[in-house]
Formats: sequence, C-alpha cells, structure tokens
Amino acid sequence: MVFVVLLMGAVLAVAPVLLSLHLARKHAMSEKFEQLDAAAQSVVLQIRDARQTLDLLVRKERASHGPPCSSDSISRLQRFGLRARAVKSTLRIENGRIRCSSSGELMRHLQLGPADMHQGDGTTVYVDVQVPGLPGQRFVVIERDGYGLLLLTETLTAPFAQNDVSLGIFGVASGHFSARQGRVEQRWTQGLKPGVDSDHFVDEQAQFLVVRKLVTADSSAVLAAAPLRTIDERVAQFGRRFIPLGILLGVGVLALTVLITRMQFSPRSELLHALRRNQLFLLYQPVFDLQRNCCIGAEALLRWRQEDGTIVAPDRFIPFAEDAGMIHLLTQRMLELVRQDLTGFLRQHRQFHLAVNLAPSDLQCHQTPHRLAQLIEAIGPGCGQLVVEVTERALLDESSAPGVLNTLREQGIQIAIDDFGTGYSSLAYLTTYPFDILKIDKAFVTTACTDAVTSQVALHIIELGRTLGMRTLTEGIETRQQADFFREQGVMYAQGYLFAKPMPVAELIPFVDRHAPAPVPPAP
Ligand code: C2E
Ligand code: CA
Ligand code: CA
Repeated sequence: MVFVVLLMGAVLAVAPVLLSLHLARKHAMSEKFEQLDAAAQSVVLQIRDARQTLDLLVRKERASHGPPCSSDSISRLQRFGLRARAVKSTLRIENGRIRCSSSGELMRHLQLGPADMHQGDGTTVYVDVQVPGLPGQRFVVIERDGYGLLLLTETLTAPFAQNDVSLGIFGVASGHFSARQGRVEQRWTQGLKPGVDSDHFVDEQAQFLVVRKLVTADSSAVLAAAPLRTIDERVAQFGRRFIPLGILLGVGVLALTVLITRMQFSPRSELLHALRRNQLFLLYQPVFDLQRNCCIGAEALLRWRQEDGTIVAPDRFIPFAEDAGMIHLLTQRMLELVRQDLTGFLRQHRQFHLAVNLAPSDLQCHQTPHRLAQLIEAIGPGCGQLVVEVTERALLDESSAPGVLNTLREQGIQIAIDDFGTGYSSLAYLTTYPFDILKIDKAFVTTACTDAVTSQVALHIIELGRTLGMRTLTEGIETRQQADFFREQGVMYAQGYLFAKPMPVAELIPFVDRHAPAPVPPAP
C-alpha cells in the first residue's frame, strides 16, 4: 500500500513537468495558428480593399455614361488609383490591351498575355505581369467589365511577412498562385470545404502549420504557413523557463505525498482508524482464588483485530497510544467494551472481581474517576467488585496520581499494583498509596521454584505484602508446581495459563460458572 502511494507520488511529481511541456506545446501551437490567422486576415483585407476599389470604379464608369478614356474617365481612373495601398495603376482594358490608364503612356505597352484565372464572380486575373521599364517587379492585374487594377504583388503580402511565415494568394477553383512569398506547397490549395471561410491544419509531411482564409467563396483565398520547428523552439524556450518550476512543483508534490503517506500510516492515524472501525475488543483472563481453587474474577485485556484478521497484542499498540497521547481514548473504549460485555453478568455475580488496566497518564487525568463512575453506574452500584491495575511507573508523578487513586478508592474501586518488582520507583510509595492488591510479576514466578539467586525475591515480595496488609496475586502461573508453591506461601490469588488463558466473553461466562466457589455449607 505504501509502495502504491509512493509510486503515485512519483507519478504526480513527474506529471507536472510532462503536463507543462504538453501544455506549452499546445499553447505555442495555438499561438502560432493565431499569428498565421492574423497575417492571412491582413492579406485578405488588402485584397478585399482592392476588389472593392475595382467594383466602385466599374460602377462609377457605368453610371457616367460617358465614353471610356475621355478626360473625365481618366481623371476618375487617377482618383481610384490612389484609393488602395496595393493599387499601382487603374486601367481601361479592351481586347487584352491597355487603352488608357491612371499612369498615362507608361501602361500603354503593358502586355497582359492570356488570362491566368477566370473567377466565378466575373473577375479575370493576370499573373506575373511585367511593366516595361520596371524589370524585376512582379505585378498582378485583376480585371472586370473592361476595367482593371494593377497590383504590386509585394505590397499585398510583404507588410505581413514575418520570419518563417510564408504567404500565398491562390484561386479557389484553379489552385493557381497569383502571389506567393516563402515556401508554399501546391497541395495546400486543395480541399477547401464549401461554406467554410477559414481552416487550419498541420502538414505532417512538410512539417508546416497552415492557415487558409477565403477572400470570397468564388474568387481567391489566402494561406499563411510556418514550419513546425518554430513551435519546438518556442517550447524549448518555455521549457528552459518553466521546467525548473515544474521540477520544483513535482518535488513539492512528492514531499507532500510522503508527508501524507506518513500521516496516513502513522500509528496515531492507524489507532484512530481502529477506534472508528470498532476493531478493538476485550479478552478476559480468569483470576483464581488459590486457596479455594475457584474463579473469583477476571482481568480485561485489550486486543486489536485488523482488517486482514490479524490480532495485535496490546504490547504493540498501548505504548504507541501512550506516546501519541491517545491512551485516554483507548481507556475510554476499553471501559465501554466492559460495559457492553459484562453489564448483565456483573449484575448476577455480585462477588465477581473485574480488573481493568490503567495507563500512567490515566492517573494524571481527572476524567478517569468520572469514566469509571459511569461504568459503575451502568452495571449498578454494588454489583461486582471493580479493580484497577496500575504499574509502578504510573506513580512517578506524585502530584496528580494520589488524588486520582484516592477518588477511585472513595468510589469503592480496589487498587492493584501491577507488575510489582519490575518498576523503577522506590518502595516508599507502597506506604503512601492506598493499595489493596499486590500483583507479583510473572518474571519472579519462573524462578521461584528453582535454586536461582532471584528465587528468593518472590518470597520477599509476599512478605512485604503481608507486612503492609495487602492481598497478593501471582501472575503467569503456568505449572502445578508453581501454583502449589505460592499456595503454600499464603498467596491469595493467582492468574496464569495453568488456570486459563485470556478468553472471549462468550467463553468466560460458562467458565466462571464451571469454576464457581463451592457453596458455603449451611451452619449445623
Ligand atoms: P499485564 O497487565 O501484566 O497482563 C498480563 C499479560 O500476561 C497478558 O498479556 C496476559 O495474556 C499474559 N499472561 C497471562 N498469564 C500468562 C502466563 O501464564 N504466561 C505468560 N507467558 N503470559 C501470561 P497481554 O494480554 O498481551 O497484555 C500485555 C500487557 O498489555 C498487559 O500486561 C497490560 O500492561 C497491557 N494491557 C492490556 N490491556 C490493557 C488495557 O486495557 N489498558 C492498558 N493501559 N494496558 C493494557
Ligand atoms: Ca494487568
Ligand atoms: Ca502484570
């Protein structure tokens, strides 16, 4: 699971870089298409301007009803010759020859030659027209109804030419170029869809971006094109600026993922998860009266059943809960579980001792007596005997522990000192605190019946308990020999695998009935 999350994090870290490159390319493409669109549109407007000038000239000439090439007509030709930027001269054409023009005699010898294109709107186009005396300059003539405009090809396209941008003007029907600048391919003139004023595409073969725009549907169109490599240069430029940012962002995302993963899988969040999912439950280990050999109580021990069914022992999660400051949540849940499991049972078994474990910080918390009072309230005051087990470690904070312990005592709860002999505090506290039961740790049990030096320790502890007026309980009794030994030493209670292992509540109830104290014989 952690691996999957980290893998996702790595993907997330690389993704912004790849995404930014992808977006940069997309952005550069659309920016280039826009630039080409604008260049083509400017040429289209130039051509439309010239064509409007021609339309107007034809209309004016018709409306004048005067003969062509009269002085009135020539001055009109001159006026119109000044109207559009690309128009160099206005012409009267008869049978393919120039009869008169706005430029006087100069145009009389202009050779138009055969028309190159007849457009659907009645316009005829002559391409590559040479003007005598102006070698090297290429002109186009557009003609309608005997009137024409001499256009300098260069002025149609040159103002909009930019580095790496090619421009072309071509007939929609014929596909012939009337003007071209830079690299243009013949195939780019084909496949214009009817009713579409403008389109764009990428010619993968030539590696060019192409934009096309109609001047009018039945006349000419303009194309503007740029090589794809200009995009790559833009992306590289972008990359130099933004990839470090992308990497930084990626590292940030990765760091965040690691952080979230650690939070997600931290003991704290796992325990919270366990609490939310009700994965904690209790086992009960019977406590025996060693002298009478009967079950007189039980100790509640927490377990954690994980999602996959694994049972986790308290030694593995209680210390975490303590470190994470969450032990009070576990104590609270443990008391709730006791209430759920045993309320009815404790009401019926009034002499039954139920022991619960408290953590050191539970003794610093003034909520603890309140929570235990709630449990007593639920099971019914006077029903059963509640015992809390505290370790020596819990008594280290001398400021709050006695207060809490005394309150518990006042509530009728017995106090047992757990794991006695393994802690680090002095024996002095034994006289200061109100203990009822002294639990001899199982570490002393194993050596008690042997010749080991430590075998004497258990005897001293028993003696100490007796001196202080406390009842003793030996934990971890596993053999009959150990049981006999402690019985002979006058130990009152015992707990251990010899008697019973911790068991679920469903097993505890019949177990207690089977091992109930023998009824006291009636007085004779
Ligand atoms: P503990 O209070 O000393 O509990 C006794 C432990 O010894 C239990 O382990 C029990 O299963 C085990 N034990 C009992 N008889 C024998 C035996 O004959 N031989 C051996 N080898 N072991 C025996 P468990 O249940 O794993 O509990 C471990 C510790 O976790 C407990 O030690 C207690 O300190 C803590 N703990 C358990 N439940 C709670 C709880 O609800 N709250 C708190 N704060 N601590 C708890
Ligand atoms: Ca205990
Ligand atoms: Ca113990």
